[in-house]
Amino acid sequence: MKKAIFPGSFDPITLGHHDIIERGVTLFDELIIAIGINADKKNMFSLEERKQFIEDSFGNNPKIKVVTYEGLTVHFCQENNIDFILRGLRNPADFEFEKAIAHTNRDLSSIETVFLLTAANTSYISSSIVRDVIRNHGDYTKLVPKTVRIK
Ligand code: ADP
Repeated sequence: MKKAIFPGSFDPITLGHHDIIERGVTLFDELIIAIGINADKKNMFSLEERKQFIEDSFGNNPKIKVVTYEGLTVHFCQENNIDFILRGLRNPADFEFEKAIAHTNRDLSSIETVFLLTAANTSYISSSIVRDVIRNHGDYTKLVPKTVRIK
């Protein structure tokens, strides 16, 4: 059984993440969307909110699970028999950053990282831009799945 993890902060999930998940899930038997707990990062949305947004988007897909985890992604993979890490690539900056992480993860384990190129229409979207739009009362709904709504 081919299991993959899609790790990230998802603060909040965007249409860019959504696209990578929809396309990525077709490559594996199970895709685990894993929200990393990072005490040093100041998040806009709580862990529960971030998890809920993703579950509301993909909860009815039996191949997709949503979890939270602490520590190294490769340790989480080893503990849960996950062989692949799924990541998205938007631009050269993503490539350089992802290359260093993927090489490090290969040094630490036998886990392979699989990259999907961003879709043309979502390539400019990032969670940090979405947070900025929200903070400044812009229309964020164009950038995120319908399940991300602020009360
Ligand atoms: P982190 O907090 O580790 O930066 P994110 O939650 O922002 O992670 O993103 C997780 C993954 O989603 C990363 O691989 C990132 O490249 C990818 N990603 C984010 N936005 C997009 C997008 N618009 N198109 C494709 N991939 C994306």
